[in-house]
Amino acid sequence: MSHPVDRTSGTMRAAEASGGRAWSARAVQLVKSEQNRSADTHLLTVEAPGLQGISLYLKDESSHPTGSLKHRLARSLFLYALSNNWLREGMTVVEASSGSTAVSEAYFARMLDLPFVAVMPRCTASEKIEKIAFYGGKCHFVDEAGLAYGEAIRLARELGGHYMDQFTYAERVTDWRSNNNIAHSIFEQLACEAAPVPHWIVCGAGTGGTSATLGRYVRCHGYGTQLCIADPERSVFHRHWQDRRIQHYEGPPSLIEGIGRARPAASFMIAT
Ligand SMILES: *Cc1c(COP(=O)(O)O)cnc(C)c1O
Repeated sequence: MSHPVDRTSGTMRAAEASGGRAWSARAVQLVKSEQNRSADTHLLTVEAPGLQGISLYLKDESSHPTGSLKHRLARSLFLYALSNNWLREGMTVVEASSGSTAVSEAYFARMLDLPFVAVMPRCTASEKIEKIAFYGGKCHFVDEAGLAYGEAIRLARELGGHYMDQFTYAERVTDWRSNNNIAHSIFEQLACEAAPVPHWIVCGAGTGGTSATLGRYVRCHGYGTQLCIADPERSVFHRHWQDRRIQHYEGPPSLIEGIGRARPAASFMIAT
């Protein structure tokens, strides 16, 4: 074992390090406890008389504690950041978000007693803004959605905070192989059905995190399930998928909140 030459400062360094460790361990514990207290979301059956012989299910991601579809993602982003030691006591968490992710992130930031700032377009629904404020978060507005990323980076730097960056990290924050992810949940909930392995799973893409998790899970478990991404009209994802040279969609934003984007997110994984 090596010992620091200067014992006094060495001890202080050790104390600081263990203080940081203690905060971090407690923070991880808090996030995990929230997960342990929370029930899974429902897999609902949908009557579709026009689709004879086809069973249709809807995974309802709105029944999380924050009511946000991005609750699972926010929890995973926090756990990932904490496990990487990117988040320390008192650090401001900054995110670029069209709304839903920020609502759930504000909830987790408050749980860990961290200031939270959402960088979002001025046109964001007032209901979202109120929810973020309800969880103690602040909103910082930009004139267009495309400006949010750069502004979030700038703000995090200025505040000595951490830019969560859902559009880069969504695909890797989830433990896609096994438990506590949306794919595992869906397959467990289908286990007693007449056809427990679905022919198709259809999902939208915002960050691409959900589709990456579903696709990886299906391959990892050797299922024959096909994955279809339903991408709204004013989105770059389906254009980019058809022609990789297309990196941008010019025009008004997607009409469906949370899915469809003007540029392919780094976390949107395309199988080549
Ligand atoms: C976020 C979201 C999804 C899933 O998007 P990813 O960010 O790609 O995981 C799907 N539908 C809606 C309505 C959403 O808000």
